[in-house]
Amino acid sequence: MSDILSSVSPSSAQEAFARAERAAAHIPGLTAGPEREIASVAVVGAGTMGSGIAIALLQSGLPVTLIETAQPALERGTGTIRAALERMVARGRLSRAAAEGAFGRLDTSLDMAAAGDADLVIEAVYESMELKQAIFARLDGIARTGAILASNTSFLDIDEIAAATNRPEAVLGLHFFSPANVMRLLEIVRGRRTAPEVLAAALAFARRIGKVGVVSGVCDGFIANRLMRPRALQADAMALEGTPIAETDRVLTDYGFPMGHFQMMDLAGLDIVTRGRTDRTVMGDLVAAGRLGQKSGAGYYDYDGRRAVPSQAVDATIAAVARDLGVDRRPTAGDDAILDRLLLPVVNEGARIIAEGVALRASDVDLAAILGYGWPLDRGGPLFWADGMGLATVVEKLRGLEERLGAQFAPCEALVQAVGTRAFAY
Ligand code: NAD
Repeated sequence: MSDILSSVSPSSAQEAFARAERAAAHIPGLTAGPEREIASVAVVGAGTMGSGIAIALLQSGLPVTLIETAQPALERGTGTIRAALERMVARGRLSRAAAEGAFGRLDTSLDMAAAGDADLVIEAVYESMELKQAIFARLDGIARTGAILASNTSFLDIDEIAAATNRPEAVLGLHFFSPANVMRLLEIVRGRRTAPEVLAAALAFARRIGKVGVVSGVCDGFIANRLMRPRALQADAMALEGTPIAETDRVLTDYGFPMGHFQMMDLAGLDIVTRGRTDRTVMGDLVAAGRLGQKSGAGYYDYDGRRAVPSQAVDATIAAVARDLGVDRRPTAGDDAILDRLLLPVVNEGARIIAEGVALRASDVDLAAILGYGWPLDRGGPLFWADGMGLATVVEKLRGLEERLGAQFAPCEALVQAVGTRAFAY
């Protein structure tokens, strides 16, 4: 990986990261006005995200009302919150008094009307437009004037959700990453009609709860998930072509990611990732075989405790799916080739995200990758890394991939135009 390793100096990457973090808080055209204070929050949905979000808020000193539809779900949620606080006490990261204080700020309800006094309502129910619209319509009739209504949706259109209310200017996305009490990225999704003071309040709120707020426009996946999708697609494609998944993961961890793509899927839960998908995939077959990831003791890997061990059963599943889908078995060989195939399409997507105005600047894209997906800090994020490599090299390599593998690798117009400049320097 000679050219790649020498392309970025770690210290300059870290300085760039510090600059990126400062820059993210500045939104062009957003003038300082009277700030809307957020002193209380209601969270609708006490599943994985709702309870994680509640922990983060409680720890920051905010009172939280957690709302569910049924008692067992509410108890599961409060149990998760209690257990997380207890773990922090046991590890010496939180005093007993602070944990009790945090838990004491938690209120619960089975009635949405309990959101009526909150300054901010964060919806974290299942990823369904129909359900989210129903909840926002209901909240519109309940929430006090001036309250901010936020959705934690991963992919859905915030403008469509806002359209279910009579106050679209008060609606935005607050996209937390899992685990929400740990991950520092908070994507603030600005809808077409989100009011400037609502956006400003969301940025201040992010700081207040110790997160880095990155503003994103509305699109499928917002910045981080959209940016990293091409990596997932290529990891899956290479697996079907016969590149061992452990090899792909090793190349990513050698580059500096804390874990590889398939390890990350196993951690997220394959049933969660495939929810709603009907096409034939390796992941779908693994779920059907009861391999849900780390939580079931087997996913893309077998697990010996938390240690991932390659599985022959998974190799057989991959070979069967490849045969059924008629994929040529032609493994990608060599670390450089695997890395180029995984990460150069991410650079390409990052350039598109900026060209479309979904991200305000290159450094926001890099922040989202570093804080949302563990992109190694000393590489500076995909665009900083690409800039260091030279955009001419990036475009040339993408064209090579396009020739061999198809149009999905074609460098986008914005990237081609940027050759010869340091378009992503910051
Ligand atoms: P989940 O299935 O763990 O939890 C959803 C919860 O919502 C359940 O407890 C359910 O009982 C509750 N619920 C459903 N209808 C309700 C209603 N009408 N009122 C109150 N509660 C209701 O789901 P999750 O993983 O926490 O995801 C929630 C949202 O967060 C989704 O939009 C998802 O896309 C998004 N998200 C998830 C992740 C992740 O990694 N899991 C990351 C970022 C964003």
